[in-house]
Amino acid sequence: RVKEQGRNSFEFYTPEMNEAISKKMKLEIGLRKALDQNELKLVYQPQMDVKTGRLCGIEALIRWHHPEWGMISPADFIPLAEETGLILPIGEWVLYQACVQNKTWQNEGYPDLRMAVNISSRQFQQTNFAETVKKILKESGLDPAHLELELTESIIQDSAHAISTMHILKEMGIHLSIDDFGTGYSSLSYLKTFPIDTLKIDQSFTRNIFINQKDASLVSTIINMAHNLDLKVIAEGVETMEQLHFLQQEKCNEAQGYFFSRPIPAEEMNTILQQQLVTKEL
Ligand code: C2E
Ligand code: MG
Ligand code: MG
Ligand code: MG
Repeated sequence: RVKEQGRNSFEFYTPEMNEAISKKMKLEIGLRKALDQNELKLVYQPQMDVKTGRLCGIEALIRWHHPEWGMISPADFIPLAEETGLILPIGEWVLYQACVQNKTWQNEGYPDLRMAVNISSRQFQQTNFAETVKKILKESGLDPAHLELELTESIIQDSAHAISTMHILKEMGIHLSIDDFGTGYSSLSYLKTFPIDTLKIDQSFTRNIFINQKDASLVSTIINMAHNLDLKVIAEGVETMEQLHFLQQEKCNEAQGYFFSRPIPAEEMNTILQQQLVTKEL
């Protein structure tokens, strides 16, 4: 039996494995076309100042709408994009779109906001990443102070190159934040040396503030630690008024989540920006 299998090596794959592989290949072929076929777009989620209740930033999040398969979550295709290297053209497209959109809103007279963009580790490892960012800022005309790059702990753990890239970006005036903070199993020592502005408390902690006392403790501890290190804190995944009150009480700087708004298309964001303009004038 074993011998037979050895001759036809494909028999090592169970039908389930074959199916999983071909599904992945289909997804990959689809993803290769997605950029050219305009199937990718960005949605935007407001980030609110906890003290004033005002809009202070926006996170750009990618969406893939396939004509037959419908909406595919970034959680399903970003890992594949990373694996295949497609994240490089896709990531560059995301960065460009987000910068142009922010600049457009500024040109339309809305108050200046920070645009946060997620950067994947393969993108950040590129030797010319900082150059690419610089080029995109120039092309879009966006002030670097209005761009924030969201990095994960896994990115920075790595290399001397990653650290020097962070310093170059920081010197350009770009904000840097750590996304999903607290989930990366990494040592905290990087916080004292890396040029980071903001910690984003992962939504798994926010979600459980009133479910598990330990999550509440972790949230307050992260906020206090960040402030002691002169870092700003933003809580992700805020869904209820109670969670917001807790964050206010703990002096968290900013909050983001369905309580304020789901990620929405640019046209819908216009309405929110319009309201901000009105409150500003009052
Ligand atoms: P993330 O950067 O941590 O983004 C937060 C995710 O939480 C988003 O999911 C957002 O839609 C969702 N979210 C926001 N508020 C709430 C809330 O109150 N409750 C709940 N349950 N969820 C909330 P999304 O858009 O599906 O993105 C998932 C992840 O995919 C992102 O996590 C990010 O890691 C990655 N991603 C998204 N867009 C990009 C991109 O343009 N480039 C890269 N490299 N990664 C991206
Ligand atoms: Mg993010
Ligand atoms: Mg996150
Ligand atoms: Mg993330």
